[in-house]
Amino acid sequence: MQDIIVVIGGGHAGAQVVDSLRREGFRGRVVLVCEEPVLPYQRPPLSKKFLAGELEEDRLPIRHASFYESIHCELMLGNRVGTLDPAARTLRLADGGQLSYDRLVLAVGGHARPLRVPGVDLPGVHVLRTIADVKAIRAHITPGVRVAIVGAGYIGLECAASFRKLGLEVTVIEMMDRVMSRVVAPEMSRFYGDEHARHGVKILTDRRVSALWGDGSVAAVECSDGTQVPADLVLVGIGLVPNTQLANAAGLLCDDGIAVDGHCRTSDPDIYAIGDCCSQPSPLYRRRLRLESVDNAFEQARSAAANICGRPVVHDKTPWFWSDQYELKLQIVGVSQDHDTVVLRGDPESRAFSCCYLRDGELIALDAVNHGKDFMAARKLIAERVKPDPARLADPAIAIKDTI
Ligand code: ADP
Repeated sequence: MQDIIVVIGGGHAGAQVVDSLRREGFRGRVVLVCEEPVLPYQRPPLSKKFLAGELEEDRLPIRHASFYESIHCELMLGNRVGTLDPAARTLRLADGGQLSYDRLVLAVGGHARPLRVPGVDLPGVHVLRTIADVKAIRAHITPGVRVAIVGAGYIGLECAASFRKLGLEVTVIEMMDRVMSRVVAPEMSRFYGDEHARHGVKILTDRRVSALWGDGSVAAVECSDGTQVPADLVLVGIGLVPNTQLANAAGLLCDDGIAVDGHCRTSDPDIYAIGDCCSQPSPLYRRRLRLESVDNAFEQARSAAANICGRPVVHDKTPWFWSDQYELKLQIVGVSQDHDTVVLRGDPESRAFSCCYLRDGELIALDAVNHGKDFMAARKLIAERVKPDPARLADPAIAIKDTI
C-alpha cells in the first residue's frame, strides 16, 4: 500500500476523493492542495442563490474544517502546484515547497473560457467560476445597473435569472441562433428563450461580441453586426476550458481534458484524474466524453479511490446535469449530441414536460422540465439501451417504461 496520496484541486471531485480514500481503508497520508484559499465549496449555487444574495457564504463549504481533521486529511489551501515531475513523483509548489507522492489525483477542474476581444480587461467585465468572482460581480450591483451577459449557456442563463430577481436590466448575447444550443434541442431552446423574455430578459442571438467599450470601466458591448448594448456590468459565460497545463507539461496524454481510462487512470499509472478536467471513455456512448457535472465528479472520485485502494471498478455511470432558472428545474440525463430523433413528451405550455433523444431507435438522453418522474425513469432506461416506441413516448399519459 502507498504511503502518501496527494490530491490537487478542491472542487467537488477533490473533496469527495479524500473522503472516499478513507472509506476505502487507506491509512497513509492524504494531502489536498488547492489554489483557492477557502475550504472546498459547492459550485452550483454560485450562479443561482449565492449570486442572487439568497445564500450566505458560510453555507457554501461542502464540509466543515473539522471533517478534514477527523479523516486526517492535510489541507494546503491557497497553494498552487507549479510543476509536476512524474518520474521523480514530486510536485513543486508556487510557494517554493516540494511534495512527494506515491499516488497523485488531479482534480483540477477548469477555468472560464476567455473572451478574446478588445476591452475585455476593462473594470466591470467578469467571469463566474469562483466565490471570489461572485463577490467581485456583486460589488457592482446597485439599483439600475445594466448587465450584458455574453453566452446563453447554463452559466449565462442562470445568471440572467438571478440578475432579474435582483431587478437589474439584462441583455444576453449569444453567437448561435438559439439559447443552450450545445446541450438541448430547438424545442427546449425555444421554451427557455421565451421564458427569459417573459421575465424581461432581452436575448440577442446570432451575434458575436467584437469589442467592449468604456472610459475607466465598461459602458457598452459592441457586436459584430454593429449592435451596441449599453452595460455597466458584463458577465462572460462562454464555456469552460479544462485545466490541462500541469498535466500537459508533465507529458501526460491530454485529449480535450486529461485523458483517463475507465479506472480514472491517466497515461501515468500512478496518476489519476477526475471531474471536469478529464476526458474518459464512455462504453454507453462509445466515445470519449468530458463531463462538466457535479455527479460525475462525485462518481469518478469514488471510482478513483476504489481503484487506488486495490478494489478495481470501472466508472460507467449515465451522466446527469441540472439547471435551475426561475421556478423551472431542468434535469438532463445522458448526452444528446449524436441523436437523430427528438420526441417531445407533453406540452411545454404545461411547464412540466420532457424532451427525449433517440439514436438508431435507442433512448440516449432526456431533458426533463419540472418532471422528476421522467428524469428518474430515463436514468434507469438509458443505461439499459432500450428502444422505446416513439409514438407512445410522445404520449405523456404513458409511463416511459411502458413505451418499450
Ligand atoms: P457555460 O457552462 O459557461 O454556460 P456552455 O457551453 O453551456 O458554457 O455555454 C456557453 C455559450 O456561450 C454557448 O451557447 C456558446 O454558443 C456561447 N458562446 C461561446 N462563445 C461566444 C461568443 N464569443 N459570443 C457569444 N456567445 C458565445
